[in-house]
Amino acid sequence: MKVITAISEMTDYSNNQIISGKKIGLVPTMGFLHEGHFSLVRKCTALSDLTIVSIFLNPTQFAPSEDLTKYPRDFEKDYEQLSKLNVDVIFYPTADEIYPKDFSSKVEVKGITNILEGSSRPTHFEGVTTVVNILFNIVKPYIAVFGQKDAQQSVVIKKMVRDLKIDTKIIVEPIVREKDGLALSSRNIYLTENERRDALVLSKSLLLAQRMIKEGVTEFKFIREKMSLMFTEIESAKLDYIEVVSSSDFSIVENLTPGQEYFILVACKIGNTRLIDNILVEI
Ligand code: AMP
Repeated sequence: MKVITAISEMTDYSNNQIISGKKIGLVPTMGFLHEGHFSLVRKCTALSDLTIVSIFLNPTQFAPSEDLTKYPRDFEKDYEQLSKLNVDVIFYPTADEIYPKDFSSKVEVKGITNILEGSSRPTHFEGVTTVVNILFNIVKPYIAVFGQKDAQQSVVIKKMVRDLKIDTKIIVEPIVREKDGLALSSRNIYLTENERRDALVLSKSLLLAQRMIKEGVTEFKFIREKMSLMFTEIESAKLDYIEVVSSSDFSIVENLTPGQEYFILVACKIGNTRLIDNILVEI
């Protein structure tokens, strides 16, 4: 497994592989890897000839008030774990190389980025789409694998790829959870023991929503009410949003229609840690 830090070396590597007929798969990450990331890596390995994992803590997707400086990192552990999977290259560039001093461009997807995560974190998605575009230009992947954990992000990226005619197929893999239901996240390391227990309210509230839908509730306001109650019972929880969107275009809906598929999404702070989770439901 190679570690490449220079953009020019990564580009040369990819060009040579493509010339020799290889199909490149990319898994973009911010490091501090866990089983959620590894499931994307396994999928990527199954679908491509070469797997490249990028580890880049992208500064432009964090607002100044967010946790960029304390975001967890452990390159050595990431390296060790990736070396046990069939990864060919870790692309590990520096922020200065990706964003040199005179960098002045951005890629923006309009509309869908104004709601949910985009409304709570107004500059987040343009940071994501810009860096994913840069990574795609450098690595030239045939496929790129993302997680449903960031459901809105994967829909934004699919939209960008469609609009800008980028020749990369986007694959989205299901959320990997702890046994008790907590969605794996690099940020879970911030949680104290009590907060770790409190954080279960996210997945539990989603399961409650799923149950209510199975029982035939179609007006989301009733579901949101019951879910919200669960959050008010947890002292460390500060709810940001509970929404349901159509899985196809991510438009917010209030009434669920049989035969359709929806994402129910929650965002919540537990203590100082902002967590997100979602569930895909078909009714
Ligand atoms: P991050 O390093 O947090 O930027 O995440 C990199 C990729 O891993 C994104 O596509 C995430 O959606 C995905 N990911 C993060 N956590 C999980 C999880 N628990 N299950 C599946 N995919 C995940």
